[in-house]
Amino acid sequence: MKSIVIGSGFGGIAAALRLKAKNHSVTLIEKHPDLGGRARVFKKNGFTFDGGPTVITAPYLINELFELFNKKPANYIKLTPLKTWYRFIFEDGLKFDYSGDEFQMKNQIKKISKDDVKGYEELIKFTKKIFDKGFTELADVPFDKPLVMMKLLPSLLKLKSYKSVYSLVSSYIKNEKLRRVLSMHPLLVGGNPFTTTSIYGLILYLEKKWGIHYSMGGTGHIINGLEKLMREENIDIIKGHEVINIISSSNKIQGIKLDNQKIINANNVICNADPPAVYERLLDIQKFSPLFKWKKKRMQYSMGLFVYYFGTKKTYNDVEHHTIKFGEKYKEHLDNIFNKKKLNDDISYYLHRPSATDSSMAPKGHDCFYVLVPVPNNQSGIDWSIEGDKIKNLVIDKMEQSLLPNLRKNIVEDFYLTPDYFEKELNTKYGSGFSIQPKFTQSAYFRFHNKSEVCDGLYFVGAGTHPGAGVPGVLSSAKVLSKIL
Ligand SMILES: Cc1cc2nc3c(=O)[nH]c(=O)nc-3n(C[C@H](O)[C@H](O)[C@H](O)COP(=O)(O)OP(=O)(O)OC[C@H]3O[C@@H](n4cnc5c(N)ncnc54)[C@H](O)[C@@H]3O)c2cc1C
Repeated sequence: MKSIVIGSGFGGIAAALRLKAKNHSVTLIEKHPDLGGRARVFKKNGFTFDGGPTVITAPYLINELFELFNKKPANYIKLTPLKTWYRFIFEDGLKFDYSGDEFQMKNQIKKISKDDVKGYEELIKFTKKIFDKGFTELADVPFDKPLVMMKLLPSLLKLKSYKSVYSLVSSYIKNEKLRRVLSMHPLLVGGNPFTTTSIYGLILYLEKKWGIHYSMGGTGHIINGLEKLMREENIDIIKGHEVINIISSSNKIQGIKLDNQKIINANNVICNADPPAVYERLLDIQKFSPLFKWKKKRMQYSMGLFVYYFGTKKTYNDVEHHTIKFGEKYKEHLDNIFNKKKLNDDISYYLHRPSATDSSMAPKGHDCFYVLVPVPNNQSGIDWSIEGDKIKNLVIDKMEQSLLPNLRKNIVEDFYLTPDYFEKELNTKYGSGFSIQPKFTQSAYFRFHNKSEVCDGLYFVGAGTHPGAGVPGVLSSAKVLSKIL
């Protein structure tokens, strides 16, 4: 059985390895000269900038890929649990250190709102129920038949999946600051906490179950370890070539064509590339059923990301590994990004400082960072060649005020990525950061199917398919694939 995987994000690499373990002959094709997709690495003058994922959860999903071939993960990668998972900072200066230490968590909650300690305990119990169903039972189940979804509806209703994550959290927690802290998880997978189905409340419990980890050497070190494993297992890797066409005949996959016009035949093509972009640009087939056309047209896309990578000539020792800084406005800010597709001055941001845990990420005496600002995706029509510098200056000003004094004069290395990078370089529709949004109407059966609903021999893994974005999600999508192929 010959299988081609298009794209080398975590989902694509996991798919290649899982199919290899099932004795397929596998070729992985990546447009860029390096692997990883959103998890690519940018190295500049002694700084190592992980492009994307930094919060590593459910590490067993990564370890499993090595174990498939009886290899010891520790010979390839090193994951370290973090003590403080996120430091939340509010406009009024209040700090909240979020971690797996329940004693510390409750103490901090008590200081902010005594009444909410009980609600917090109840919320955790409820998210465990969601986790047991939504993750343990369903994350690696194929959702290609409506019946599977229909059977689930009663239990999903019982788990209140018609509610948003924010509304679920608010039914347990009264304090607005704590509501923000405990409902922010959809943002990690491209959703608005005010509209994402409460099923994604499972992330809250998933973090508690396995902790939050950091990959020593950066997330790119995991990609390197997986690349080594793929080579050892004789997976053919083609880098620096884009697939420009998926060839099919009578609705059956035949193979692919590369940008150098080379044709490679295969029984199966597995796309780790963004599903809507694949359906629009790569397939020969253009006649979709009315139902599929409707499904594709009504999809809503996740937000875009502005990511500013910078290195400083001094270290900021009191800054945590992961910091989330909330702006004054929150709901309105998210509404502007997701619905009105407008930029704001009152931003919230996530700051990553890997050198807090790993000194190898920056030259001696220096610090390495990225700051991520959620922004509208490219449905906005924003001209990033004008707005890019403005946001960069805005976020530097904000960080100088509340976190990194004298930042501007200490920066020695920097660059940024906007939704244009995600659209043009990673081939993502509208340059969205996480493909389609994780809404109830776009989850499981309603997402792009892992086994294409359009063409035989065509499959999908990665953020746009079931179960969804985030490293655990895309690794689980490869598990779904290995069940159906
Ligand atoms: C800034 C940022 C921070 C994040 N932080 C976290 C985090 O902390 N924790 C977490 O769990 N998740 C995080 N995420 C989400 C997570 O990174 C993604 O959901 C996940 O990595 C996506 O993987 P994927 O398998 O969908 O493929 P992608 O990473 O999207 O890769 C797809 C690949 O396909 C290639 N490709 C596309 N079209 C073609 C073609 N025609 N021919 C050849 N190749 C093609 C692209 O070049 C790309 O390499 C973050 C994402 C971003 C952007």
